[in-house]
Amino acid sequence: MGCIFCKIVSGEIPSDKVYEDEKILAFRDLNPEAPQHVLIIPKVHLTSISEATDEHIELLGYMQIKIAEIAKKLGVDQSGFRIVANTGDEGGQTVHHLHYHLLGGRFMQWPPG
Ligand code: 5GP
Ligand code: ZN
Repeated sequence: MGCIFCKIVSGEIPSDKVYEDEKILAFRDLNPEAPQHVLIIPKVHLTSISEATDEHIELLGYMQIKIAEIAKKLGVDQSGFRIVANTGDEGGQTVHHLHYHLLGGRFMQWPPG
């Protein structure tokens, strides 16, 4: 299949890994929008949060907790950070494998525009 993030999980496409375990992978975004810009993905292919079902409750909860740990590792847990899951066309999703952006290291404007 042609999913870029599945290829990053398999190692077919290299990535700058920040955290990895049996369930998830976190790696630096190729085009960072902030001093710290990391993508957190489940290793299993899930298109977006829109496709999530009750069987994903544990995985999604797990991801949130690990994001907090990754933020600490990046040194932005105290200064603050933003997590974003662009979803679908109008949500601005370009890679159709669920991912959270973790952005930090600068002040994040709101609303995002
Ligand atoms: P989306 O627009 O779907 O919310 O986010 C996709 C993100 O993936 C973008 O920020 C883009 O820079 C990043 N990206 C796309 N292809 C690659 C890649 O091959 N490697 C890495 N590290 N990031 C990628
Ligand atoms: Zn995938």
